[in-house]
Amino acid sequence: MPVTMDELVRLCKGRGFVYPSAEIYGGFRSTYDYGPLGVLMYRNVKDAWWRSMVQLRREVVGLDAAVLSSPRIWEASGHLANFTDPLVDCRSCKQRFRADHLEPGADGRPACPNCGGTDFTEARPFNLMFKTYVGPVEDDANVAYLRPETAQGHFVNFANVLQSEHLKPPFGTAQIGKSFRNEITPGNFVFRTREFEQMELEYFVPPAEAGKWFEYWCNERFEWYVRLGIPREMLRLRPHTPEELSHYSAGTADIEFLFPWGWGELEGIANRTDYDLKAHAKASGETLEYFDPVSGERYVPYVIEPAAGPARTMMAFMIAAHTIDEVGGEERTVLKLHPRIAPFQVAVLPLSKKDALTPVAAEVLELLQPVTMCDYDDTRSIGRRYRRQDEVGTPLCVTVDFGSLEDKAVTIRDRDTTEQERVPISRLVEAVSARLAW
Ligand code: ATP
Repeated sequence: MPVTMDELVRLCKGRGFVYPSAEIYGGFRSTYDYGPLGVLMYRNVKDAWWRSMVQLRREVVGLDAAVLSSPRIWEASGHLANFTDPLVDCRSCKQRFRADHLEPGADGRPACPNCGGTDFTEARPFNLMFKTYVGPVEDDANVAYLRPETAQGHFVNFANVLQSEHLKPPFGTAQIGKSFRNEITPGNFVFRTREFEQMELEYFVPPAEAGKWFEYWCNERFEWYVRLGIPREMLRLRPHTPEELSHYSAGTADIEFLFPWGWGELEGIANRTDYDLKAHAKASGETLEYFDPVSGERYVPYVIEPAAGPARTMMAFMIAAHTIDEVGGEERTVLKLHPRIAPFQVAVLPLSKKDALTPVAAEVLELLQPVTMCDYDDTRSIGRRYRRQDEVGTPLCVTVDFGSLEDKAVTIRDRDTTEQERVPISRLVEAVSARLAW
């Protein structure tokens, strides 16, 4: 049976993945903090993205642009005028909602999720950008915005990157970082928050090849989720209807995941055309084009943008991995996470807290720590410790027992099969690396 959101939220809090932010003050408006295990898994999601987008490619380079940004960027990009959601007020309870997120009530008309009323004000555009002031004077000359997408940092650095890197289209810039949107109705746990991270690639291509590269990235990104453990039937690629398209897009497809509440977007792949580079070239007066020194050709590349969110992705990995099975007649909860994504890859577990075992267990831990992220647990019964590791998705447990003192060997237990194998400590690093198989 699939995990419910209540169970997921409980697991996240109880096991140190995600806490409601400022909880001792009653929480703060759908903000969340990542706990000791959450921060490990969240980083693994971002690292896996970086690895596939930057490390394993020749033609993609990294970037890390500023969050506080000039209003001129957002004026040129069209966000000041267009980055809006339709806002309506319920006339009965006065709550505000996104008009396009209202579900129909019994009579088929959009209904207020709070009071059930169907009488709303006319929809009006609400700009999602967070505005602030830079420096000690709060006047119009000092307005700045927290970026609502990381993408613009790529476009305003296009000429810098070309100048320092000698790249030729198709090439890309990749960035992971915070974005901020004053969402009208955040919700569904970390799915929609006002402060969140994005993992965005801007892939600059010759205009005539945009269609081909759009298809390529739709496929490539879909397979990334599958490779990291999400079953195909929990994913779908959904092209946007013409009405849904963003102001800059000539075509977008979303990779959606089957969340407990229904299909929801993990990532959008957009053909942003030459909209952004041309808009910034016009507004800044800079030349933002590619010049081919061999052919003498000069053009503004088209941009294909796969834009994903690590928080939604982490949640999807947890939901897809959540399994309840039976071991030795007992029910257990196990997160069958891909080893690259799991918070810990290995847990070192001395069978007892007795002094004799501690130095060997410490030695084993020190052998494995440089190789991968390890947990160490010498509390409670071994059975309960296995259950705990299963529940947080640790692929391997290494158990040190009294026999280890004699035979200089330990037991490796596999999370999914629960099978155990005795391995000499001298070959442990090799054996663990082979089992994690990445
Ligand atoms: P939505 O339609 O859900 O509002 P979007 O289409 O506006 O999302 P994009 O602008 O395409 O989102 O951003 C790319 C990715 O950034 C999304 O697929 C999502 O993973 C992530 N993202 C966007 N908004 C949020 C948010 N408010 N909270 C968490 N992640 C988000």
